[in-house]
Amino acid sequence: MNRIYLDHAATTPTHPEVVKAMLPYFSSAFGNPSTLYSYGQEARKAVEEARNKIASLINAQSEEIVFTSGGTEADNFAIKGVAYANEHKGNHIITTPIEHHAVLEPCKFLEKRGFSVTYLPVDNQGLVDPQDIKNAITDKTILISIMHANNEVGTIEPISAIGKIAKDRGIIFHTDAVQTVGHIPVDVDKLGADLLSISAHKFYGPKGIGALYVRKGTKLAPFIHGGEQEKGQRAGTENTPGIIGFGKAVEIAMQEMTKERTRLSHLRDKFIKGLPEQIEQIQLNGHPTKRLPNNVNVTIDSARADLVLLNLETEWIYASSGSACSSSNPEPSHVLLTLGLSPEQARSSLRFTLGRETTESDIERVLEVLPRIIGKATVMSELLEGLARRSRCC
Ligand code: PLP
Repeated sequence: MNRIYLDHAATTPTHPEVVKAMLPYFSSAFGNPSTLYSYGQEARKAVEEARNKIASLINAQSEEIVFTSGGTEADNFAIKGVAYANEHKGNHIITTPIEHHAVLEPCKFLEKRGFSVTYLPVDNQGLVDPQDIKNAITDKTILISIMHANNEVGTIEPISAIGKIAKDRGIIFHTDAVQTVGHIPVDVDKLGADLLSISAHKFYGPKGIGALYVRKGTKLAPFIHGGEQEKGQRAGTENTPGIIGFGKAVEIAMQEMTKERTRLSHLRDKFIKGLPEQIEQIQLNGHPTKRLPNNVNVTIDSARADLVLLNLETEWIYASSGSACSSSNPEPSHVLLTLGLSPEQARSSLRFTLGRETTESDIERVLEVLPRIIGKATVMSELLEGLARRSRCC
């Protein structure tokens, strides 16, 4: 039986062309890009070519791309980097409660060190109101950080409007674009972003490599101290194979984005339309149209998501109950709770994220097996609840 992988928001399979492009940089072209002899210079040239490609994907200049170990580091770098470089100006940060933990945790870290953070509300589809941002700005605000698209429910935020507000008030604006770069057009000028986080493994590149876009003139404290790599902003010998793979993934994304985006949106809509025809009491989470082309997030009232996922795996179907980083954590998703779901509803929510290998027949198969799987999971959920109730009264 075919495996059906529907967890592309967690990670994507590395494209074979990406792997092929990386291989020489583990062997014949292994040089350290900081050395001056030919081995090193060959690696340097390839690193700079990759940097150019990444910059052109987001309409940036290559000097504005700083390589990181991925999205988490890019987010940490942006938030702590702005905070430490601008604390003489103010100590206030604006964000939302539905950001990825890679944004929320550095914010919490800074709160313990004298910074103040406003977590703006979002509506029940996950949208931030730019007017709320305007109202939250104080003369101490140094940073606004709002994600481009939410990794759990797929809602795409009104980033251009927020970028304009930040620019008018002279406040640095960061957006976590980990779920959008390589999937939908991202233009740092149109978005008005000063800082933008990218991760290669979310669009068929290798894991452990990403970048922070830093608009020229943005004041940012260096993140890792050591050598002079990345102009002293992020020390450490470059991950050359990773960077080359990142560049190749960008090249492929540029060629395929328009076609793939249309194809995935069609499959997503077919999936969303088919679900209530097969299953009663199902509710779509996130925005119906301002949504990533590959995201389907639903609440199934009767069954626990972990039990549905367990049963789906027996059919070789792989999905998620929230973000990958928290799927081993029994706590309900912070994003779904913020959107107004009860803890029980959040624990009964599933995320399916489609990708390059997903076909129409995969979607048909998932729609066909889901009612049976949900039936089984519902019986299991009731049994477990009964057992828990009995153990409580004994
Ligand atoms: N930001 C968002 C929105 C994400 O979805 C993720 C990963 O799931 C990250 C940041 C972290 O990226 P990485 O896995 O490259 O550290």
